[in-house]
Amino acid sequence: VPAEATQFTERLSVEGIDVVRVTYPDLIGTDRARDVLLDHLAAACSHGLSFCRAVYHTSPQGDVVPIAGGLDAGLPDIVVRPDLDTLLALPWEPGVASCLGDVTDPATGAPAPESPRALLRAVLARCAEHGLRPIAGPELEYFLCDADPGAPGGWRRYSCAAGAVYTAGLRADPDNHLLRTLRLLRDLGIGVTHGNHEFDGAQFEINLVHSEALGAADRAFRLKAAVKELARKEGRLATFMAKPFNDAGGSGFHLHLSCDAGEEGENRNVFDDPTGRYGLSGTARHAVAGLLAHAPALAALVNPTVNSYKRFGPDTVAPWLVDWGLDNRSAMVRIPPERGAGSRLELRLGDASANPYVLIAATVAAALLGIQAGDEPPAPLEGYGYDTARSALLPDCLPAALDALEADTALTGILGKDFTAAYLAYKRNEVERFQQHVTDWEFTEYAYHL
Ligand code: GLU
Ligand code: MG
Ligand code: MG
Repeated sequence: VPAEATQFTERLSVEGIDVVRVTYPDLIGTDRARDVLLDHLAAACSHGLSFCRAVYHTSPQGDVVPIAGGLDAGLPDIVVRPDLDTLLALPWEPGVASCLGDVTDPATGAPAPESPRALLRAVLARCAEHGLRPIAGPELEYFLCDADPGAPGGWRRYSCAAGAVYTAGLRADPDNHLLRTLRLLRDLGIGVTHGNHEFDGAQFEINLVHSEALGAADRAFRLKAAVKELARKEGRLATFMAKPFNDAGGSGFHLHLSCDAGEEGENRNVFDDPTGRYGLSGTARHAVAGLLAHAPALAALVNPTVNSYKRFGPDTVAPWLVDWGLDNRSAMVRIPPERGAGSRLELRLGDASANPYVLIAATVAAALLGIQAGDEPPAPLEGYGYDTARSALLPDCLPAALDALEADTALTGILGKDFTAAYLAYKRNEVERFQQHVTDWEFTEYAYHL
């Protein structure tokens, strides 16, 4: 055991930490973890922690989903290497600190191809070749539910306050869930800035500071896990699924994106150009063009579930068409009104169920392709945004989006063939399981009169 590891654990012990929770994001963004007793942390750091090479179902009938090198190879080990630079004490679990881990292949020590952190690092390395440092600001929405054995799935919305968007306080949040969560997330140290009640009853949004993209993904991943954990502590369920209820809108995962260039720390935003068209630089407009050109494939990655496609629609505040607009919330890409250092785009396509690493990596990759191609987007949308005569529809279901992803060789070329293969294998298995399943809707629609 190296002396510095011993010193490190001694320091943690003085701070009252006796357990380190090593968490890694799996392919679909679920937080998988092991609690490591402090006495074993040094060993875990030198050898890594073994898990089995698989992607697991998230459903109660849980099992593993075959990906290459997993089930077909007898479920061999993957090794998770704790990244101690990410260590944070959990304010709600005294004695426990949490850190992220990187998933590696024990035979080679290289990152496992299905590792989302490795995917994002690889995409960012591509950007660095072009002198670009993407800056990302994630916005995540979710619903809070109370246990109710009579409700579908056993959960009902925690409050049914209507018309409560952009309110804070007890009228729509009778148990002060948001305030309590916001303070605990602040104490966790993941850079939350504010939170508000969203359009639908029991729907909330919590925002994070913008930063370089890997840090932003790490913090968004930790935010989702922490919000879910804190809800469980109260006997509740926080869900980031895209469209959990028929009588409410969906939950988005908007991503604000700009791009720095020049020396590290120089913070020169290359999306800014006061003399450019719409007050945006060519780079910014090319990035928008890239997002539009690759939107169907992008959807497969940022709208990752069969449920995701039920969030889209006309007259929602979610997108429906492949379009962009200047400060227009009905568009898939909105350009917020700020300019100067704050010049940026907001991709409104993603939903909250997306894996933050995959969402950011795919968005950056599509923007980079646009920047490389130097394409100009069509004129921005003006006014009402849901006009099918003007813009193409987004994919209407996951299978269509997965086919678009497979066909988009420029995008999958950046994401890598191993990652793409693992992702398509997992998601097509999910589609197959869904298509075999008899839903409540079918029984209600057909059973009585047919
Ligand atoms: N809930 C909306 C969505 O699914 C977004 C609402 C908002 O603009 O904050 O994207
Ligand atoms: Mg919102
Ligand atoms: Mg937003």
